[in-house]
Amino acid sequence: MTKKKIRDFFKGLKIRLILLFLVIGIVPMTALRVGMLRSYEKKAVSNREIDVLSQARILTNQIIFNNYLENADLELINTQLEQLSNIYDGRIIVINDSFHIIQDTYDLDEGKTIVSEEVMRSFRGEEISKYDSENCYIEMTLPLLEQTSKEVIGVLLVSVSTDSIVLNQGYLENSAWIIQLFSIMVILLAAMGLARALVKPFQKMAAEIVEIQNGYEDALEINSYTETEIISERFNQLFERMKVIDESREEFVSNVSHELKTPLTSMKVLADSLNGQEDVPVELYKEFMGDIGNEIDRETKIINDLLSLVKMDRAAADLNISSVNINDLLEAILKRLRPIAQRQRIELVLESFRPVSAEVDEVKLTQAITNLIENGIKYNKPEGWVHVSLNADHQYFYVKVEDSGIGIPEDSLEHIYERFYRVDKSHSREIGGTGLGLAIARNAILMHRGAIKVFSTEGEGTIFNVRIPLNYILTS
Ligand code: ADP
Repeated sequence: MTKKKIRDFFKGLKIRLILLFLVIGIVPMTALRVGMLRSYEKKAVSNREIDVLSQARILTNQIIFNNYLENADLELINTQLEQLSNIYDGRIIVINDSFHIIQDTYDLDEGKTIVSEEVMRSFRGEEISKYDSENCYIEMTLPLLEQTSKEVIGVLLVSVSTDSIVLNQGYLENSAWIIQLFSIMVILLAAMGLARALVKPFQKMAAEIVEIQNGYEDALEINSYTETEIISERFNQLFERMKVIDESREEFVSNVSHELKTPLTSMKVLADSLNGQEDVPVELYKEFMGDIGNEIDRETKIINDLLSLVKMDRAAADLNISSVNINDLLEAILKRLRPIAQRQRIELVLESFRPVSAEVDEVKLTQAITNLIENGIKYNKPEGWVHVSLNADHQYFYVKVEDSGIGIPEDSLEHIYERFYRVDKSHSREIGGTGLGLAIARNAILMHRGAIKVFSTEGEGTIFNVRIPLNYILTS
């Protein structure tokens, strides 16, 4: 396996779920096992202590009662001492008031002196019991009290082995391990099954997306989880949008081809008719060549408009932003258009309510506003007017282009920004329209994060309202 494959494997949801289930299953079980074994040991040791202590207490009474400290050969007591040490696998030592060992069931230290800390404390009257888990024994020392004076006249030292407890604990531990190993196997199998089932909808989703890519399906529908349902929904929305974009792109290409072909067809017709005639008068040649020249101009205009559009379709990073005096910009546009307006006897007026300076791309904004004013002139009536006004607030500047022209029918209003859309094809063509002017204007305005709105009444006129931020906002 390559490094990437290993990384992908551990990045997968399935392996993560399996590990999670294993941790959830194993950690509490291990804690339970360790805790139970510990508490077993504690409980068993304390039970043993209680048992031995009660036996030892009986024995202390017997020792005092029978005056054993004076007479260590007493059979009755010796037998009891032997019995107790046999039952609990222990050693019993009797110490008299001069710290001498007078009886040792192991017969090792009789006659010796013993002055351990516990023994000394018991001589002071304490009853001590101590568990040494490392060496596996419980040691207890009990004071031997004189019956009447209650003086300590000796100490009984009992030490019992806890080997049997440890042995039992070992058995228990082994069984617990076996049970735990078995459980781990079961948990692992269950976790693998569960993880596979949980991950399945996502795998199905990936497979269905491939089907959609190959064209066998047209919608993603994985409803196993709310999340997959949401992803499916979003995916379908995105896919629909992509389809629309694809369709509009196809339509655009076919429109472009058609628009580019029209002038070519006209030129071909004109040229053919000249070629088809004999002895064509020079005037007719001139006229037809003039028409051919017009068609070439038209073709050039379409291509130029298309190039402008394509340029604007690119990222907004292409904007060449600088601080521009908008009043001057509008003045310059109007100055350029005035001769065209005059030719058609249209009055062109600019009204500035305040000086405005904004961060814009001068060339693109000029093109957008020019297109709007040009339209106002083109689609006007003789003796008509076009009013351009400029206003601003603290956030935006507003350009209004109002004309007294033919207006736009209501059902065309939503289409006017589409590429190549023209309300009246022949009229628009006659006056040199390509159907791209408003698409270019809108694109340029949107690139500035602005907005454009149109109001129109057929036969009365049209108003275009443009709103653009004074400061260009760069968003990633
Ligand atoms: P064109 O190059 O044909 O003018 P535009 O994209 O600029 O293309 O405009 C699209 C269509 O919207 C025009 O063909 C015209 O029918 C209509 N239109 C645009 N501006 C106006 C206006 N001011 N008055 C009336 N109709 C307009």
